[in-house]
Amino acid sequence: MSAMAPYGDPAAVAAFAARVARSAEKLQRRVTLMEVCGTHTHAIAAAGLRRLLPEWVRLIAGPGCPVCVTPVGYVDRAEALARIPGTIVTTFGDLMRVPSSGGSLERVRAEGADVRVVYSPRDALQIARDNPGSTVVFLAVGFETTTPTVAGALAEAEADRVPNFLILSGHKIMPPPMRALARDPEVLVDAFLLPGHVSVIVGSRAFAFVAEEFAIPAAVIGFTPTDVMRGVEALVECLAEGKAEVINLYSRVVKEEGNAIAQALVDRFFVSADVVWRGLGTIPGSGLALRPRFAQRDASLVEVELPEPLEPAGCRCGEILKGVIDPPECPLFDGICTPITPVGACMVSSEGTCAAWYRHERFAGGSDGPGGGG
Ligand code: SF4
Repeated sequence: MSAMAPYGDPAAVAAFAARVARSAEKLQRRVTLMEVCGTHTHAIAAAGLRRLLPEWVRLIAGPGCPVCVTPVGYVDRAEALARIPGTIVTTFGDLMRVPSSGGSLERVRAEGADVRVVYSPRDALQIARDNPGSTVVFLAVGFETTTPTVAGALAEAEADRVPNFLILSGHKIMPPPMRALARDPEVLVDAFLLPGHVSVIVGSRAFAFVAEEFAIPAAVIGFTPTDVMRGVEALVECLAEGKAEVINLYSRVVKEEGNAIAQALVDRFFVSADVVWRGLGTIPGSGLALRPRFAQRDASLVEVELPEPLEPAGCRCGEILKGVIDPPECPLFDGICTPITPVGACMVSSEGTCAAWYRHERFAGGSDGPGGGG
């Protein structure tokens, strides 16, 4: 393989595709590669990579979109907090339209609650500084890549004594759901394309268990089409040769041990917790809760009345997030459910699998295309 391939060069992508096809001839069976990163999901769909691969190689998306895996109960709690007088709820934009049990944050804002879209946790902290008479809650949703930025804002709030800055932690970590997927007989994964951004923080070593415990090969990859195809080629070669190893193909930014400073910052504020993932249920140790000594900043401890969590009727996001079905297999896809009228979370976020398929793949053969439906 060529490490010098120009990023995004169509000729380089085509050359990788040809090499994947040659390796795939040795397989004698269909193989399924799962990516667990919303940015990869989007990149694969936008570049049409699925259609370049031989029918023996199927790419599916796993639970890599943080907004998509956030359970409906979290959004219910965020809405309840927003209804408390004197509270300002701050959030990344993607979460605004995610359906809750009875509405959405967008609807609660329309009803008069103070819900503001921010671009970073520090923006939320600034709102807290500017509004000392209000309680400002930041909806902290994201994987290992996002958590250090939230921990940084918390550190600043502590140092500058900003008492009215709280977070509602919905943070999740990626290895536990991958372990759950590897054990799930309903999910057939032959290899994992590992998330580049997450790996920058946790290091490639954090995924060694995939090969060691489950004999599944995996590759840490970047985000250009050539990065992805390079990973696919390496994994198909591993499968063809019966090898299970974790390969770091993003070593220009990912180290084996990750980013120790970011890890220490996260560890100062957060502790491992059992949390619910949409579609996957409760996974032990898969989330991060605020440490008890920061309880005064923990919005999950604020007493609110919550409805019984209610998933949107007919939505099959849970199966999408496990890679069990492709979006066109949901009867609501591209009819009732579109990015303008999303029924489920997977159609709301630009990193969601349903949104990516809607934007880039619905006229391109869908699940009947090469490698689909297997
Ligand atoms: S197409 Fe819409 S309703 Fe169907 S699984 Fe995706 S988000 Fe849910």
